[in-house]
Amino acid sequence: MSDELRVRFWGVRGSYPTPGAGTVKYGGNTASVEIRAGERTIILDAGTGIIPLGRELARRASVQKRPLEVLLLFSHLHHDHTQGFPFFVPAYMPNARLHIFGPGGTPETLSSVLERNQSTETFPLGLREMASSKDIQSVRESQIIVWDESGICLAESAAGLNDEAVIIRIHKSYAHPGGVYIYRVTWRGKSIVYATDTEGYVGTDRKLVQFAKDADVLIHDAQYSEEHYRGQLVGFPSTQGYGHSTVTMACEVAAASEVGQLILFHHDPSYSDEMVTGMEATAKSLFTDSVAAYEGLEIVLRDEKKMTERLQSPSPRPLSQREKGQWK
Ligand SMILES: [Zn+2]
Ligand SMILES: [Zn+2]
Repeated sequence: MSDELRVRFWGVRGSYPTPGAGTVKYGGNTASVEIRAGERTIILDAGTGIIPLGRELARRASVQKRPLEVLLLFSHLHHDHTQGFPFFVPAYMPNARLHIFGPGGTPETLSSVLERNQSTETFPLGLREMASSKDIQSVRESQIIVWDESGICLAESAAGLNDEAVIIRIHKSYAHPGGVYIYRVTWRGKSIVYATDTEGYVGTDRKLVQFAKDADVLIHDAQYSEEHYRGQLVGFPSTQGYGHSTVTMACEVAAASEVGQLILFHHDPSYSDEMVTGMEATAKSLFTDSVAAYEGLEIVLRDEKKMTERLQSPSPRPLSQREKGQWK
């Protein structure tokens, strides 16, 4: 098993896809991020970036001659986070197992939204006609998603789990219309926080800072330049209250939560590569370890010390308070 925790960006744009000469450097696909914890694959959001990722996962499964098992987490259900799902190749593979979790008022909210997105009027194939096995559930903020040697499940507490389990915590933010889930993925002592579609508060979002504390990587919404946000960019109205952050807001959260790296994410679809490069420079002046996300960006987290500790630790203890998902 690989010992690395990897993050790869497949779609970094907000709102709608933006192909064209002006977006070649950062890419035009909407939000989709792949995390690999050893051999386990976790996908954050299903914007159009999930389409090339799906082809890559199908290729890997065929090379490895192993059925695919994927955990897909939705931050929320706005179009730019779901529009790639109907074209996600693994969803059509009969031996693939997809665990799909996200927000919703009832456990069925997520599946009913995905079904509506593929109604007979809007798409040729319904969700239920996609051949893969799918466990689709809306989850609560208080639940913890666990992926260990016995599979994927929802737990109420992380008590008794060891470093070998991938543990995913949820923070529900209200700083975006309709609310949004922010995820913290932890494996072998390394953490990645995915905080897209969230607007900063005056004095910083304290709850988010606490949630992201000491993470190795913080992926944070940084859709707007300061001028755009304040309505000072010619031809653009102010975007205050739209539910997206400026570079400064993202850097404030990164600094206050003392993360290792900040990745600027959810670039405005009207911004050219030059504008995003300028925003990255601004970010670096405020928080040194800042990078603007681009398609193909990959971050690898390793911890040799942790490896040694792991090899000396006792065997995993069983989980408690488990809930098993329904396969649909
Ligand atoms: Zn979005
Ligand atoms: Zn949104």
